[in-house]
Amino acid sequence: MVTQAPPILIVGGGLAGLFCALKLAPRRVAVLTPGSIDEGAASFWAQGGVAAAVLDTDSPERHAEDTLKAGAGIVDAEVALGVAREARARIDDLLSYGVPFDRADGAFTPSREAAHSERRIVRVKGDTAGRAIMETLVARVRAAPSIELLEGYSARELLTGDGRVIGLRASGRDGLLRDFFSSAIVLATGGIGHLYRVTTNPREACGAGLAMAARAGALIADAEFVQFHPTAIDIGVDPAPLATESLRGEGAIIVDRSGHRFMADIDPAAELAPRDIVARGVFASIAAGRGAFLDARATVGAEFPARFPTVYASCLAGGVDPVTAPIPIAPAAHYHMGGVVTDARGRTSLAGLWAAGEVASTGVHGANRLASNSLLEAVVFAARIAKDMGEPSLETAPPSSAPARDETGAPDQGLVDELRDVMARDVGVIRDRAGLTRAARAILRIEAAATHAHLRNMALTALLVTSAALTRRESRGAHFRSDFPQAEDALAHRSYLTETQARAIAEEALK
Ligand SMILES: Cc1cc2nc3c(=O)[nH]c(=O)nc-3n(C[C@H](O)[C@H](O)[C@H](O)COP(=O)(O)OP(=O)(O)OC[C@H]3O[C@@H](n4cnc5c(N)ncnc54)[C@H](O)[C@@H]3O)c2cc1C
Repeated sequence: MVTQAPPILIVGGGLAGLFCALKLAPRRVAVLTPGSIDEGAASFWAQGGVAAAVLDTDSPERHAEDTLKAGAGIVDAEVALGVAREARARIDDLLSYGVPFDRADGAFTPSREAAHSERRIVRVKGDTAGRAIMETLVARVRAAPSIELLEGYSARELLTGDGRVIGLRASGRDGLLRDFFSSAIVLATGGIGHLYRVTTNPREACGAGLAMAARAGALIADAEFVQFHPTAIDIGVDPAPLATESLRGEGAIIVDRSGHRFMADIDPAAELAPRDIVARGVFASIAAGRGAFLDARATVGAEFPARFPTVYASCLAGGVDPVTAPIPIAPAAHYHMGGVVTDARGRTSLAGLWAAGEVASTGVHGANRLASNSLLEAVVFAARIAKDMGEPSLETAPPSSAPARDETGAPDQGLVDELRDVMARDVGVIRDRAGLTRAARAILRIEAAATHAHLRNMALTALLVTSAALTRRESRGAHFRSDFPQAEDALAHRSYLTETQARAIAEEALK
């Protein structure tokens, strides 16, 4: 069968992809997603909201300053300021689509999150921002005559020719591979959390977009920076549900198996230390075989079901009653600051390829993302890409596609599991040269044994993260090396690498 492909292809139906499709209207686009656009995107799960300076007491300049501080010295200041300045306009776009942001008498009622110097998180009914935004956009997209939905297609590789991206190869639900040709492709495939054994991300967030771009020759930046959430509930549920940080705010303590409150030995603020420090404490206790548990019995106790119903339900589903027992926890891969390098227009280093959302690296997050800046970055860059493509100078090739072929088999689940264990153990919260080298060896072996393109993509993204982590011989932001525990002034810059360089770094380490 020959599929009629429209001129612009958007790969991924999360916030970045759908917002870009809407902003491009009435230009014809197709949005390609592995499942339905009602599922599979991390954007649905965002609980906080969108960071934007909407109060008179606040300013984009202050927002940018906070972003710079969180990013630990390597945020691109110009990009951060530009994003903060566009925030209000993008919030207005979302309002115009019908997103019911919390307001009183027409004025926003934003809340405050860690490391923001002002109340700046635009929310929807407490913790439902992601779902509310996505449900609104999904309805708009389904009603838009300019948007064709290619649901049930998982992109496997970018096709290149004459020095540019000319299309992509995708696997359909029917197990057939199909080529779609287009001279304008927007990568919006989200993050990489599922490369790790414990993650808060959906299954689809496994770094496929990053690998496809790298394999096609795109430049990748800051791949070593992975943010971990310190208190995911570790009850064998994948993805792991979160035990919200407010439980610690309410006095819940973190203990090991013997009941020892180990965070108090690590930081004077104990459980209320910054996320990275708590994540490292929890990781170290688990790695030493002592386990880690969030104990809310004394402080929340019988009020748990009423005050934290979502966490309570997650715990019960895993057979733990937090009223009477400590909750097993583990750090979970949560957000990838690195990604495919883009310029201020969202263009990657490859002609014909743009990137937006978590798969992109725009320079705004540096070594650590400021809370709720990711949804903001997704809409700002999706809008910029639509504007860039709207320029009349952009030529799009005539639509076309190629006939289908078989994609045989499924990824070997044993190898997928091994890859995720390797990443969690050796490329996780605490890293060192020995562990990273061990990981590089395992990843290359898994890649060589992989017979399926999906697993090969996962392995390549894992290798990019590992090689970047091997190269950064210091600790900065979310990247912690126990063999180089300090930040080095000379290394206060972003990191860039290609697939070829990542392989060379890994091979050098293995010598
Ligand atoms: C639990 C949780 C809470 C969060 N809370 C917040 C918050 O409060 N504020 C905030 O700013 N950020 C938050 N984040 C981060 C934020 O949700 C994400 O960074 C953001 O939603 C990413 O948007 P995206 O469009 O880039 O990717 P996603 O929303 O993940 O969408 C990616 C899309 O690409 C598709 N896809 C993946 N691979 C392929 C492929 N090979 N072919 C075709 N399609 C593919 C997926 O199916 C999906 O449709 C949170 C994240 C999590 C997990």
